[in-house]
Amino acid sequence: MRAVLVDGPGTIAVRDVPAPDASSRTVVRVERAGVCGTDVKIVSGKIPVAYPRVLGHEIVGSVAVAGTGSSLPVGTRVLVNPSSACGSCAVCRADRPHLCPDGALLGRDVDGGFADLLAVDDAYLHPIPPSVPDDDAALLQVLGTCVHAQAQVDVFPGQTAVVIGLGVSGLLHLQLLRARGVETIIGVTRSRAKRELATRLGAVAVASPEDAEGVVREVTDGRGVDLAVECVGKEETLRQAMLSACLGATVLVFGTTSPTADGMPTYEWYYRELAIINPRAARPRDYDRAIALTASGTVQLSALLSARFDLADARDAFAACNDSGQLKVVLEVTADR
Ligand SMILES: [Zn+2]
Ligand SMILES: [Zn+2]
Repeated sequence: MRAVLVDGPGTIAVRDVPAPDASSRTVVRVERAGVCGTDVKIVSGKIPVAYPRVLGHEIVGSVAVAGTGSSLPVGTRVLVNPSSACGSCAVCRADRPHLCPDGALLGRDVDGGFADLLAVDDAYLHPIPPSVPDDDAALLQVLGTCVHAQAQVDVFPGQTAVVIGLGVSGLLHLQLLRARGVETIIGVTRSRAKRELATRLGAVAVASPEDAEGVVREVTDGRGVDLAVECVGKEETLRQAMLSACLGATVLVFGTTSPTADGMPTYEWYYRELAIINPRAARPRDYDRAIALTASGTVQLSALLSARFDLADARDAFAACNDSGQLKVVLEVTADR
């Protein structure tokens, strides 16, 4: 089968590799696979892996061969939960399989889904109803992680929020907040095109990073927002999130970089008595919620798909990811159903 491999920092190739050894697992024929910032960091060497490694953790496909005891009929379209867990440690038993210390991420710790076939235990497969178009399905894994993050935050209609960074995850957080009844949402990004898209998706105000402080003050009558969602992962954006927050606010740190406390406005953190939430992955139930939100049309996913490439052109797909105007870049592994 074909697979996209990273052979070392900066070196990716598409080549034939043996089909996965399924043993009792279900074999998924991969249909769409999203390229993520994590993949880009693995390719650049910023996230080291054991080489060669098949990339890819944002995977949808259909059941090609049902595993032993599988209840999923052949042909069922599925979302793959890419985070495996041991199932028996104290963390897994505490119902937090997404934090399992012995867990692994597809495409980083084990071979992933930028390939024709992927063998997975049924526990990691979430059926997708036919009402979800293929283009939307390609973004379900990312939506699952955003659902997981927001499940940890209380919001109420009438509250105010800022979303800092309007890439795919920021635009999904914006839509989820709208769906949860938060109408006063300010979107912050350098990109004019992304500000326009955020307005279409329901932001009441948008701003460049330079103007954000003033816009937040204006929209909230000087109070600051009840919830600041940071979706970039840089010290300056975390700082901006903390400084946009009102007294007693919550800061949802979704960008995965964890800056050291140096240079952070830690006095404001203390003075404003901020609750800072820093989610890591997604629980199985978050993926089912993501699928339901998409099937009902509550969240629009395909609006965030900005480029598509055949699996064979994976190098071009990765090159496209360097364009900051890009939103979700998707690999098409099989032709349309
Ligand atoms: Zn991802
Ligand atoms: Zn475990």
